[in-house]
Amino acid sequence: MATKTTTAKSASAATRTPKQENALKELFVDELKDIYWAEQHLVKALPKMIKGATSDELKQTITDHLEQTKNHVTRLESAFESIGEKAKSVKSEAMAGLLKEAEELLEETDKGTEVRDVAIISASQKVEHYEIASYGTMRTLAGVLGFTEAQKILDETLAEEKEADSLLTQVAESYVNEAAAAE
Ligand code: ZN
Ligand code: FE
Repeated sequence: MATKTTTAKSASAATRTPKQENALKELFVDELKDIYWAEQHLVKALPKMIKGATSDELKQTITDHLEQTKNHVTRLESAFESIGEKAKSVKSEAMAGLLKEAEELLEETDKGTEVRDVAIISASQKVEHYEIASYGTMRTLAGVLGFTEAQKILDETLAEEKEADSLLTQVAESYVNEAAAAE
């Protein structure tokens, strides 16, 4: 039975009005600006986490991700360019909050302790989860808007954020295993 499925909620590209299309594009560009700010500030914040970390494994994991993060900044510039927009950052209140929390954790824990590393892992994973959520939404929005090139670029970064998150989980698990072995 044929049912009418065209509602404002599920409007497809063919049925979306130019106004709806513009609103979606504006949302997409706003999200790009937010994550552009976030990535730029992560490039500055990650070295502090590396310096503060104790275990070589954790230092290495964050160092590798710092290199990827520098690439994320450049990729976002390509994404802006691919849709004919100037690369611009707008303060991400959420990321600013997460980075502030990370700094506080560094202040509250002593260098060279296990708890310091666990705090760094926790703060880093909150950051990664924010990025995963943002890139996940943006790549879908890019698809909806027909921004194929931008979608491809965002997908590449999304994969690296997920990888970084799972590597951090592995580092956390190796702590648990070491602690169990030491008993
Ligand atoms: Zn990133
Ligand atoms: Fe990241």
